[in-house]
Amino acid sequence: MARKLRKCSVRDCENKHYAKGYCKKHYTQVARHGRLTPERERGVVRVCIVEGCERTDTIGQYCRKHARQIRTHGRLTPEREHQMGNVGCRVPGCTNRHRAKGYCVKHYNHMRWQRIKRTLQRMKELEARAKQP
Ligand SMILES: [Zn+2]
Ligand SMILES: [Zn+2]
Ligand SMILES: [Zn+2]
Repeated sequence: MARKLRKCSVRDCENKHYAKGYCKKHYTQVARHGRLTPERERGVVRVCIVEGCERTDTIGQYCRKHARQIRTHGRLTPEREHQMGNVGCRVPGCTNRHRAKGYCVKHYNHMRWQRIKRTLQRMKELEARAKQP
């Protein structure tokens, strides 16, 4: 019957027991700093390696968002990001966020109103024409 190998008492640490309930790494931390130092272990804050992405919630080399893209699609999908993300209004010079059909709220409403006006205008014309003998 194989005896269960003693492991480090630190949660999630699979290392072999070294001394005082810790593995060598964790024992060294406690011996040196008087406590565990997971922040040192993790090292510097890592930024996602994707160009233009500055997220620091990284898993390995990618941030959570990009890691999910790779997990789901097997690659990065910037085109999807673009569709869902901050697409602006298509009116030149307008910096408002996209709302519908390529326009921001303001321009979308404006465009809709223009269309309604045009329809009303045409109805009036048709009416006027119908009244003529
Ligand atoms: Zn350990
Ligand atoms: Zn990223
Ligand atoms: Zn606009």
